[in-house]
Amino acid sequence: MGVEKKILVIPGDGIGQEVTAWGQKVLTTIAANFNHTFTFEEGLMGHVAIEATGDPLPDETLQKARSADAILFGAIGHAKYDNDPTLKVRPEQGLLKIRKELGLYANLRPIKLFDELLEASSIKPEILRGADILFFRELTGDVYFGEKKRTEDRNTASDLMIYHRYEVERIARKAYEAARTRRSKLCSVDKANVLEASRLWREVVQEIAKEYPDVETEHMFIDNAAMQLIKDPKRFDVVLTGNLFGDILTDEASQIAGSMGMLASASVGDQVGFYEPIHGSAHDIAGKGIANPLASILSAALMLDISFGLKMESQRVIKAVEATLRQGYRTMDIANKHTVNDFIMGTDAMGAKVL
Ligand code: ATP
Ligand code: MG
Repeated sequence: MGVEKKILVIPGDGIGQEVTAWGQKVLTTIAANFNHTFTFEEGLMGHVAIEATGDPLPDETLQKARSADAILFGAIGHAKYDNDPTLKVRPEQGLLKIRKELGLYANLRPIKLFDELLEASSIKPEILRGADILFFRELTGDVYFGEKKRTEDRNTASDLMIYHRYEVERIARKAYEAARTRRSKLCSVDKANVLEASRLWREVVQEIAKEYPDVETEHMFIDNAAMQLIKDPKRFDVVLTGNLFGDILTDEASQIAGSMGMLASASVGDQVGFYEPIHGSAHDIAGKGIANPLASILSAALMLDISFGLKMESQRVIKAVEATLRQGYRTMDIANKHTVNDFIMGTDAMGAKVL
């Protein structure tokens, strides 16, 4: 029996427009092949929304988001805002607002190096081969949202690192559930030797761990984790961490997969899931038709798995990406100077190879 799902597509700005079209096409193909009914709506956000309505996140988009089963997002941003920090209405306000309104507290970032891209990385192949990590980064707490202060003389500053038990509990449960569907290993990253917020973090994770005796739990300090990630990435399965440590670790880890153009992410909470490539609107290559569409296609695969529970369909998409890479097809960001067999192509040609 097929499922019926309503998907909101928000292409946004720059290459978001070009790559999201391919994430959507892949979903359409999966629906046709597996007898599912996916209906699509489109929403405005970012610079395009400001141009059309004056608002980076129009109410209409938010309403559509609330009634959707999942959201496929591209990117937001425009060169004019980079050069003019005085512009009051800005594309990124749309993204921050939708995350808040939809209660998206967990950011998931799978880091998987396709064997076909091993040689393109600057890290040794024997270290990288087989690396497959799923990060859970907490999104609503930590120093980003704690009280910020500056003394009157402006010479002393502080940011409050704050976590509440419920914030750690809810993301820990999600991470443990995911670990169960993978290799049943979870590494929680903190700095509990010095930070009180980290001590709470560790205590709560230890408690939740008791509900998942089948999952092997490890606790690691952030400094060690940053080192282990490069030294031996294969030792990690699910990595669970806070907002600040997650911000840094996931960017570090993105290098394991070669290019930003290869990486997808999901933001989830208790309502609808939000799926997007980790890259931005890339104004330097926007409109040229050369952006790598694989991150958007892999975001669609994540949606199938996480929001719809369609594991087989999700795997089908990942296999199609693998097959395309195996045949030597590359967009310019993942082209390997040393591989003469590469066929370097644009967004649409690459997307069509995956379909
Ligand atoms: P934003 O301000 O929207 O975050 P940005 O200027 O930070 O955009 P990113 O989109 O994050 O830029 O991209 C950083 C670099 O990586 C750019 O040089 C861009 O061309 C490249 N890049 C990003 N995504 C892709 C992709 N899908 N395919 C090819 N190159 C990409
Ligand atoms: Mg960026």
